[in-house]
Amino acid sequence: MGNVFYADIILPLSVGNLFTYRVSSPLSGRIERGSGVIVPFGKKSSYKGIVYRIYAEKPDLSVVKEIIDVIGTGPLVSEVQLDLWQWVSEYYQCALGDVMNATLPSCIISADDSLKYRIRTGSRLVLSRSYTEDELAVLLDSMQKTPARYRLLINYLDITSYEGGKNVPDVSLKMLREKAGISVSVIKKLTEAGIFRRFEKEESRFDGYAEALSPLKELSPLQQKAYKEITRQFADRDTVLLHGVTSSGKTEIYIHLIEKVLSQGKKVLYLLPEIALTTQIINRLRKCFGDLVGVYHSGLNDNEKAEVYERIRGRSALPEYRVLLGVRSSVFLPVENAGLVIVDEEHDSSYKQYDPAPRYNARDTAVMKAKMTGAKVLMGSATPSVESMYNARTGKYGYAFLGQRYGDIKMPEIILADSKEAYRKKTMISHFTPLLIESIDQALEDNEQVVLFRNRRGFAHFIICADCGWTPVCPNCSVNYTYHKNMNSLYCHYCGSTAPVPSRCDNCKSTNLKFKGFGTEKVEDEISILFPDARVRRMDYDSTRKKGSMERIISELEKKETDILIGTQMISKGLDIENLTVVGILNLDGMLFYPDFRAHERCYQMAAQVSGRAGRRNTRGKVIIQTSDPYHPVMKYILYNDYEGMYNKQIEEREEFNYPPFSRLIRIYIKHKDRAIVDEAASLLADGLRRKLKNRVLGPEYPPHTRIQNLYIKSILLKTEKTISYRYMKELIGKHVNSLRENRKYSSVRIYSDVDPQ
Ligand code: ADP
Ligand code: ZN
Ligand code: ZN
Repeated sequence: MGNVFYADIILPLSVGNLFTYRVSSPLSGRIERGSGVIVPFGKKSSYKGIVYRIYAEKPDLSVVKEIIDVIGTGPLVSEVQLDLWQWVSEYYQCALGDVMNATLPSCIISADDSLKYRIRTGSRLVLSRSYTEDELAVLLDSMQKTPARYRLLINYLDITSYEGGKNVPDVSLKMLREKAGISVSVIKKLTEAGIFRRFEKEESRFDGYAEALSPLKELSPLQQKAYKEITRQFADRDTVLLHGVTSSGKTEIYIHLIEKVLSQGKKVLYLLPEIALTTQIINRLRKCFGDLVGVYHSGLNDNEKAEVYERIRGRSALPEYRVLLGVRSSVFLPVENAGLVIVDEEHDSSYKQYDPAPRYNARDTAVMKAKMTGAKVLMGSATPSVESMYNARTGKYGYAFLGQRYGDIKMPEIILADSKEAYRKKTMISHFTPLLIESIDQALEDNEQVVLFRNRRGFAHFIICADCGWTPVCPNCSVNYTYHKNMNSLYCHYCGSTAPVPSRCDNCKSTNLKFKGFGTEKVEDEISILFPDARVRRMDYDSTRKKGSMERIISELEKKETDILIGTQMISKGLDIENLTVVGILNLDGMLFYPDFRAHERCYQMAAQVSGRAGRRNTRGKVIIQTSDPYHPVMKYILYNDYEGMYNKQIEEREEFNYPPFSRLIRIYIKHKDRAIVDEAASLLADGLRRKLKNRVLGPEYPPHTRIQNLYIKSILLKTEKTISYRYMKELIGKHVNSLRENRKYSSVRIYSDVDPQ
């Protein structure tokens, strides 16, 4: 290339895609695809971006600004990452900048002076020269009369296991001081005397794994069979679905596969749908693989995220991670040379990001990533999604089945408790059927633990005036306020706004206000009254906002310091508690009647997952499901643990009504603060698309909540053949949106697509 050439840059913006800059000759040697650069943009003089491509031809632009600087040496983002960004941006119809934002910890892209995150350093202490064994003995002897110095030396030798020899190990000063119980002045004296040397070194922001590693558990014959099946299928398939009932030992199989992949010198990406699940799994993985395991989730601060980013790609002075356990966004991290990607609980809708862009599904993105890198994908679930099961049935995925719980433990006994009947007979005790109360009683008497599942948080869903029907509604959203007793306020779950609890009706001034519906807070309140001696805890979004609070709740449960745990879907997955025998599902009906083609599937999955927490070790578990509709067809599948039946029914309906996996759905959202503008823009867009896509266009329609955060919402649903190219769809929609926006009236309407909505 000549002296002057050009680069297309990704900027962390949702608008546009690539921005062209000139590369001046002083920078030309340092720039490559994936490099981080600083560029001028708009009013801001410097912006951080990533080089997408470099070329020599002069672009057809009147003004081309120059790149200001290149950051660091070597690319910040790898080839595979860029390819994956490209795919995500096309398939999920978003800007490359959106994917960049989802990938790079913000301190890497927006720190002011340098792209580098702040490395943490810590003081280390080391003997200032090497000693022979005899010399060490002499040194120790010489310190006999100064006990503090002696303690320091002996502890140093103990921690480092140094017995003399060439390689003199160093040790964390803080750790040594704590262990030896000595003051800084002692250390100062010893360094002044030239015996020890003190220096600074990069230190991890995470606690290391201090215990000895445990050998892997031996697989049962059934697990071995599944393990062999998986490895056999990997010979000619990229993806295998491991369908194993709850507590069949899927995680144990993952651990064996991880060991195998590590022994081949490759890395592993292990995806989980929720942070709540990482707590227990991380402990299991660390026992086997120690500090080779890194964790990534939204609970980490930026510098911690950056440390994980640098350690997984081996660019840190700290030891490289070889296994990355993380939630959905970890799929974008640079786990190069991965041999295996595990997608645990693959059916879980949390793998899909709903807002903001990129609105991607991490499970499907993982499959694409693996394809690009040659890695294998193992999806695991006790209740596979209809789509993945269909892929297994049609041979696209391999399949392995584990039909029994580990250790010959029986599947839990499931009992449906008819709450409608109990209300009619007036036998309900607040929100609980007599059967559930009896079972909790029995469990507590036997010193066993109980989990109660309620799919709503807060205290009461809404407040209503018994005289005129008035209900407090969020002023920004068309949503009832939820009453939270702990905060003593009304709270909108959609925009986060709060309001004081009214003492009288806004409309008729009556004081006859009633609390309707119940959430986890209310359940906690009532259970504490009914079982005053039980230790009750609650786990939901509200009770786990503080850092470390989730870990504490789970650890208390593990240590049997909690008798009854109440929670939302956070507790429905993955929990493996030895002594938990009774699970109560309070009111499953709300989910059944949700207007969504996946409602029945979701209801089945939820019930099976929550039930799966019961009786995982010695005693057979018992699950009580309260429902007002025990004869609903889905209840039968749940009762008999009939995944097959549920799947067959679902796939039949999906085929008949042309839903996924038989079609691809794209939902286009249109939002604006003016209702009339939303109506018009949505109709124009739908009409335009209909000319091309005919009856594949459904709507526009209002969603159940027509206004959120001050914006009215309408949506258009596209139901297309899976054979229509996603590039074509992105272009087509983009074209129609642009032509709509040419009319100034609609230029400020927010429009975006949600591809494969969940
Ligand atoms: P799943 O992931 O299918 O829900 P887990 O892997 O959590 O199941 O296994 C359930 C329980 O059985 C765990 O406590 C696990 O430690 C134990 N377990 C599973 N397989 C074995 C094995 N091969 N040896 C010893 N314990 C096992
Ligand atoms: Zn009123
Ligand atoms: Zn609101």
